[in-house]
This record gives sequence, structure tokens and C-alpha cells, in this order.
Amino acid sequence: MRVEGIETVRRILCVFPRYTSSFGTFEYAYPLTDGVQAFMPPQGLLLIAAYLPANWPVRFIDENIRAASKEDFEWAEVVFVSGMHIQRQQMNDICRRAHAFDLAVAIGGPSVSACPDYYPSFDYLHVGELGDATDDLIARLARDPSRPERQVVLKTADRLDMTKFPIPAYELAEVKKYFLGSIQYSSGCPYQCEFCDIPGLYGRNPRLKSPQQITAELDKLLECGVTGSVYFVDDNFIGNRKAAVDLLPHLIEWQKKTGYVMRLACEATLNIAKRPEILEKMRDAYFITIFCGIETPDPDALKAMHKDHNMMVPIMEGIETINQHGMEVVSGIIMGLDTDKPETGDALLAFVDESRIPLLTINLLQALPKTPLWDRLARENRLIDDDSRDSNVDFRLPYDQVVSSWRKCMEVAYQPEKLYARYQHQVDFTYANRMRLPSTAQQKSWANIKRGLIMLRKIFWQVGVLGDYRKVFWKFALSRLRHGDIENLIGVTLIAHHLIMFARAASGGQQNASNYSLRLREASIPAE
Ligand code: SF4
Repeated sequence: MRVEGIETVRRILCVFPRYTSSFGTFEYAYPLTDGVQAFMPPQGLLLIAAYLPANWPVRFIDENIRAASKEDFEWAEVVFVSGMHIQRQQMNDICRRAHAFDLAVAIGGPSVSACPDYYPSFDYLHVGELGDATDDLIARLARDPSRPERQVVLKTADRLDMTKFPIPAYELAEVKKYFLGSIQYSSGCPYQCEFCDIPGLYGRNPRLKSPQQITAELDKLLECGVTGSVYFVDDNFIGNRKAAVDLLPHLIEWQKKTGYVMRLACEATLNIAKRPEILEKMRDAYFITIFCGIETPDPDALKAMHKDHNMMVPIMEGIETINQHGMEVVSGIIMGLDTDKPETGDALLAFVDESRIPLLTINLLQALPKTPLWDRLARENRLIDDDSRDSNVDFRLPYDQVVSSWRKCMEVAYQPEKLYARYQHQVDFTYANRMRLPSTAQQKSWANIKRGLIMLRKIFWQVGVLGDYRKVFWKFALSRLRHGDIENLIGVTLIAHHLIMFARAASGGQQNASNYSLRLREASIPAE
């Protein structure tokens, strides 16, 4: 549903800020692809773009692909920006550049919704989700697009029902330049992990789109040229289990109809392992990856962070159950918890070996505003405002000890031999449990074959010839080639290369130990 009844025409420039180099955005893999330049199309800005009056021309720029130009700013009457805390400096920079053209700039999205005071220069702050504040903003801009005398803060009191959300304007994004496609079915999570801002921002009772909206969005993504992997950005795919059960048959039908052109991934709590009936359907819908916030293998730490639901099934058993349904587990891990001990790093490395999870995002604890953790640390006077550090938390252990333990974990966990051994395990014991897909016209199309050949050429040259871990690579690659398994050869190599390169940079101190840390972020602001 779009907003209706607005006669005036306004030209809106939507600008998505750059990310800095990050473990979870896979940028070391991009040079091995056929032209990927950014991680995922941003749902929020594309949703707003679709919601604007139909007669308002919209231009969308993702600064991860190219910076907004002078011509873009001269074209626009108003600029919209959205992003997360980690993009704060870049968002403020876009505002500064837009103001140089005397344009009004509005900001929405998760960061400003949690921390409006991070954005003193913006003209309009849109706090909260799509709803009455959005209608108010559009009505104000329709009346007058110029910069207001002072900042206007609009807060959503009445959220738009997600069943009324329009399909995000994927057609405005250059979707083929993204590593993954993105889609959203639900928002919110019923749990209350101490460090997480999701329940505070989006509520504990997940809001939902309808299954028909999701299949229509998939149709549109396909129409726009997305074929590889599509990530459900839902905070917790089983936040409302009945809704997941309702959606899955529609996804299965859609995949059958379109010839399984998309590989699906999502985020879900580890207790999904208690629901084999959901896992079976996910397998049939061709979900191949689940990101689980395991956080730590230490039960006392899970209890302390109010993440007891991770212990509803023994962790190893949960991972194995998911693997048995053909889905690889990707795990979030946090170091620097109050419960950490000097031997926590070694325990984590033992967990990595035992779980055989290839990809773990290992981060230092960071307190986010509007979380119970923030409130507790503020009470204990343990929040540190110092951008030169990798975390704003005053750890119980000495800071240097925590950071060096993180570096060691990154270095050891992502040694090429260890990483490829974990991937070989996934090939043998997880990927082997996936559905055997019928070969389709799309797979055999020249465009698809050409894409594969381009990536293979780059992989063989850059990793197989020039790479310093080429022996490990070839051992894996030759076994995949013998099985005619080109898809996993390419998929594993892309991710593994990123993990190995990023971990080397991280253990050498050239990457942040937290995805939220502001350290090293200055340099990444676009030069314009
Ligand atoms: S389960 Fe995940 S999304 Fe839900 S509160 Fe915990 S960390 Fe946040």
C-alpha cells in the first residue's frame, strides 16, 4: 500500500551509507565474483521508496556501490537516509553533503530510532517504524520541501500493519551487484537477551506479513534478476512459530514452481532444533543456512545474558540436528562477557573444533543503547566513551587480555587448514542431506554458465595460483571437481577466502574486534 491523495510532486533521493570493512559483509569475496560490490539491498530505504506517493520520482543510491554525485544532489528536492549505528559517521557525512546543496535531509531506521541524539544536524528525524510518522513526514514535505528552521522529530505511535507494507522497490537497486538478496517476513523477537536491542525497538510480539506478500516479493526479486541466495532478515524466523509453519508450504510451492532458483537463509534461535517438523519443511523450501546466535558455549554465561533458550537442547545436539536437515549453522559468538575467564578463548576454540561450524562471527561485547545491558553497565559505571577502544564496555578482565584473546581466536579458528576441514565436514555431513534438485533450464542457461566460468577463472587464478594457501584450496577443490560439485566449490571458496583474509587482518590489529566499534571507521567515509 502506498500513501495516497498527495498532489504535489517531490523528487526524493534515497542514500544508503557505506559500511566499513566487516566480518559479516564478505567484501574480500567480491573480487572473486562476477561484479558484486555490496552486501544486501537495504530493506528500510527500499520500503520507504515504495511507500512514497506514486507520482514522486525516487532515486536510490547505495554508497557501497557508488557515492551520491553532485548531479544526484542537484536533481533532488529532499534526501532520505537510513542505517545502523555502525554507519553513524557515514550518515552524518551524507547529511553534511546534502546541506551543501541546501537540501532538507530526513533520517529513519534503527540507529536514529534508538538514539535520536546521534543525529543533531538532520532536518527530520523519523523515529520508529513505518506508520503515522511517515505519513506526517510526507505531508510536510508535500507542503514545503525546504529545510525547516529547526529539527523536526516525528515519532511513530501507530505502526502500519505489516500486511499493508508495499513490496520494497527492489527495481531501484542494482540487485545483481549484491552478494545476497534480502527479504523480510516478520519483525520483533519474544526473547530478551540482555545485549540485544531488537525487543526494545521492534517489540516482543512479532509482527508479520502474509505468505502471499512474501511470494509476491520473491517474484519481484526474481524479475529484478536475483537468483543466488536470499536472506530472511527477520530478527528470529521462529519468533512466531505458527507463522513460520504457515509460510513454509508457500515457499515450497514457490520453489517448485520456479525451479528452486533461490537458496534461502535466515536467522533463528537454536531451539529451532526442537522443531523437526519446521526443519523438514525448511529443507524442502531449500533453506541452506541458519544463523544462530549461540553467543557462547558456557551455560553460566548464557544464563547471565538471559539466553537460556539456547540450552533447551544441548548445543552440540542442536547443531547436529540442523545439519541433519541439510542446513549449515552460522554462529554469532561474543567475547568479553562478565562471565569470561582467562581460559575462555581456549574453550571457544575447542567449541569451534567440536561443532565444525565453519563461519562464526566472533565479536567483542558492545553495549547498545536501549538494551538491558546498557542500563546495567550504566548503573555499574562501566560504560566507556572512547572511540580508540574496540568496545564501550569496561570488561571484568583486563581490556588488553580480552582483545588479545579475541585476536588469537580469530587467528587460530580461520587458519586455512582448520577452516577447510570444517567445510569438508559440512560437505560430507550437512550438504549431503540437502534435497537433490532437478536440473532446470535456468541452471543450464548460458547466463548462469557464463557466471560460473567467470568466478571459476578468478578463483583458480587468485586463490589457486596466487594464493598462499593454495595447497589447502586445491585439496578441497579437486575433490569437489571430481564430484562435479561446482556450486559448493564456488560457494565455499568465496566465503572461506573472505574469512581467511579478514581474520588475518583482524589478528594483525587492522580490523575492529566488534562490528559496532567506531575504531578505524573514520577512514571509510567516502572522499566526496
Ligand atoms: S533471540 Fe536474538 S533477536 Fe531475540 S532477543 Fe535474543 S539476540 Fe535478540
